[in-house]
Amino acid sequence: PLQNHSRLPVMSGKRVLSASSSESINSCSDQQPAQGVECVSLAPIAAVGGSRRPAWDLKGKVTDMEGKISNYQRKVQTVAQENESLKASVAKSRQKEAQMTSDLQELHTQLRYRVPGNMQRVDYYVKMGTTLRETQDTVRNLEETVARQTDEIHCGEMERRELHNTIQELKGNIRVFCRVRPLQAGGQSDHIQLPAHDNKALTLAKTEESHIGRSGDTQKSYNFSFDRVFGPSIPQKDVFEEISLLVQSALDGYNVCCFAYGQTGSGKTYTMEGGEMEDMRGVIPRAVQQIFQASKKLREKGWKFTFTASFVEIYNETLRDLLYTGKANKRPEHEIRKSANNEVTVTNLTYQKVNSEDEVCNLIALANQNRSTARTNMNDHSSRSHSVFQLDIEGENSGRDVKCKSSLCLVDLAGSERVQKSQSQGDRFKEMTAINGSLTNLGIVIAALANKESYIPYRNSKLTYLLQSCLGGNSKTLMFVNISPEADSFPETLNSLRFASKVNDCVIGTASANRK
Ligand code: ADP
Ligand code: MG
Repeated sequence: PLQNHSRLPVMSGKRVLSASSSESINSCSDQQPAQGVECVSLAPIAAVGGSRRPAWDLKGKVTDMEGKISNYQRKVQTVAQENESLKASVAKSRQKEAQMTSDLQELHTQLRYRVPGNMQRVDYYVKMGTTLRETQDTVRNLEETVARQTDEIHCGEMERRELHNTIQELKGNIRVFCRVRPLQAGGQSDHIQLPAHDNKALTLAKTEESHIGRSGDTQKSYNFSFDRVFGPSIPQKDVFEEISLLVQSALDGYNVCCFAYGQTGSGKTYTMEGGEMEDMRGVIPRAVQQIFQASKKLREKGWKFTFTASFVEIYNETLRDLLYTGKANKRPEHEIRKSANNEVTVTNLTYQKVNSEDEVCNLIALANQNRSTARTNMNDHSSRSHSVFQLDIEGENSGRDVKCKSSLCLVDLAGSERVQKSQSQGDRFKEMTAINGSLTNLGIVIAALANKESYIPYRNSKLTYLLQSCLGGNSKTLMFVNISPEADSFPETLNSLRFASKVNDCVIGTASANRK
């Protein structure tokens, strides 16, 4: 407290001091210059006294004038001195400038003549700079061109999609292809006739023996026409060519469904799966190959795809996961669920993300293994179950903000043969009813869709319930009717062709891509 006390007067004293000093500086520009301070404006000396001399005091006035003059003389002297020193410093500066100029010249000379390498380097850098600027311009131009061309490619791709799918729509969203298997014994079938110049027609003929002798034999013939008829010698590759256009549609965001319908032994599995050898490969492996190849090309155009595979078997109206890898006694049960946005999913089913053709081929092998290990007689079992291979495709072009989602379903149906009621008992009867029921319902559903009926009985069978999103108005459907050429298959062949004709008469409402 004592210290604080003694400090206070000192601080206030300082404040007073600074205030008075600022006053004395301000007064400088006024009429009363303070002593010892030189002012820029020269105040008349007469004002020093603050009073003018009386008119009679001539001597006094002279004294004043003399004082003024000597004052001016002193000033002039000071200015002259200043001038001199300025002149001296100008001269000094000139000298310095001259020195620097000569130094600079010396340096230039050194650069140019004494060390020619440096000059070359300078030239080089200058050239480099120019080239760099030119290159930057070129890069900018190229970038602009690339952006423009990417736009053009995208527009072209969208245009191709539209044209491709318009063509597919014009061809009909439900198509039926007929495929005739070669005779097991070789040679030509006598009751199936394929006109040489029409790949859409087929005639089924049967000679009925007359009681009155050979000449009276009657021929009964049935004519059918489909979107395409493949004779027994048409290879897998040519058959797929017709379907590949639909597979392309699946990548463009359309649901695509392909069935193989026909009696056991008519070539359904051969058509859908085929053999291991390259030229024996069927629709499923070829479609998968096409999907992955086409998606690779679309990736260059900014598309990103996600593929999910599932493989289900429907046997006696019960679903079985063909991609199941767990313990046989722990097999889960499955139910078909429909979400709010009409997406169909199967509970506990394996939905396997796949990135390559090989991965899908491995899954197909796993499915075949699952089918064969479960039953003792594989062919017998597989002929009584439907197998549904489904590839869900999700595409996104983030740069363009375009998304699409679709499913490709490839179905190997159960044998369509009718079993005589007297021959079927117990399990066999149950199987028969289930198969007949689901195949008949498939026909009913397609007809209902074609007639644009308000109620479509999808729920009447597991097969149509599972495939409803692939069968509706927003999809493209292809049905193969496989027929056996042997004479003893005649009734079943006629039956299959009649069923297929009914389907062929249907036209499903114009499909539109699932674009978001
Ligand atoms: P499904 O599946 O309808 O019961 P498969 O596909 O198993 O009939 O065919 C029965 C047999 O006929 C198989 O041995 C198969 O290899 C053969 N096969 C079917 N279609 C053809 C064809 N177009 N060319 C050659 N062989 C065929
Ligand atoms: Mg089969």
